Amino acid sequence: EANPFRKIPTILYPDELMDKAYNRAEKVAGELRKTTRGESLYKSRIIEEHKVRTTASVIGDYLANVIAKTPSVDNLNPFYREILEILIDTDEFKKSLGALQWASEFIKKLGNIYGRKIREARTAQQTSIIRKEFLGRVSSVLKQIYPNLACIAVAREKLKNIPTVKDIPTVVIAGYPNVGKSTLLKKLTNAEPEVNAYPFTTKGLNVGYSDYGIQFVDTPGVLDRPIYERNDIELHAVVALNYLADSIIYVIDPTEYCGYTVEEQLNLLNEIEKTFKVPIIVAINKIDVEGYEKNLKKIEMFLTDKNMDALKISTEKNINLDKLKRKIMEIMRG
Ligand code: GDP
Repeated sequence: EANPFRKIPTILYPDELMDKAYNRAEKVAGELRKTTRGESLYKSRIIEEHKVRTTASVIGDYLANVIAKTPSVDNLNPFYREILEILIDTDEFKKSLGALQWASEFIKKLGNIYGRKIREARTAQQTSIIRKEFLGRVSSVLKQIYPNLACIAVAREKLKNIPTVKDIPTVVIAGYPNVGKSTLLKKLTNAEPEVNAYPFTTKGLNVGYSDYGIQFVDTPGVLDRPIYERNDIELHAVVALNYLADSIIYVIDPTEYCGYTVEEQLNLLNEIEKTFKVPIIVAINKIDVEGYEKNLKKIEMFLTDKNMDALKISTEKNINLDKLKRKIMEIMRG
């Protein structure tokens, strides 16, 4: 549902992990010192074996938990995968998770091996020597996966602020700047939209939810100028949106007060239509402003040619917004 990367736990580095395990092992040992009766070799075996097994399970379980809570790249919703691929090296990320898996299993195995060795120790002193040997080996395994832990920690930092979108029917609002997209988003949804960081642009991604179960996304800086002017990263942004959008509302401003000509706006619509294979509703906005019949004609000719659906609206004067909502629901129901 929400950003799946927020579930990745805080990454502990080798020293912190060893400390965490040490503290737990000492606690267990403290209890055992109070409750275990018997001669010194027998007591040492029990206490040292428990320390070893506790250490192995604290570290092994921690690593297993990181793996369990980290979304697998291959099962990711393609919108998130697209973002992942631009922000991190996914091969290294996968390899790192594999390394953690190996370390988790290996440390648990070491716990068993050294636990058994302690049980067979001949002297009390030997039990603690064996435990120290065990700690040395665990520490070297953790040193070996240090770069992998770092890789996941960095990915976690980069990914925890990517936008939260829900896996529900989604309408993307597109159009040049100042045509009225954000005003429309507010009118179509209930609350103030959530503004999320979008890794591809500096402007963020605005998400709003309607009471009829549809998510609306306005992406300033993404679908607001010709796609051929885009760099690689921005193209990823477009691809990501392509995965997200079930349909598109393309907002046109016939008054050209937005600062872009009707021709420019129709060219962008044309590109979006070719890039996104989803239904497009064209919203001709600001019809409360008069005197733009010539531009309206141009738009209507283009739309008839393309066989596209359009509605004349005014987001500011609330004209035809109910019709637009009904049209969206119709289209989204298929
Ligand atoms: P965005 O950049 O596409 O999100 O555009 P905005 O929603 O910020 O709107 C840009 C400007 O157009 C603002 O000054 C709005 O007040 C104005 N505007 C938006 N919709 C209408 C409308 O239906 N009629 C009129 N006259 N102005 C509008």
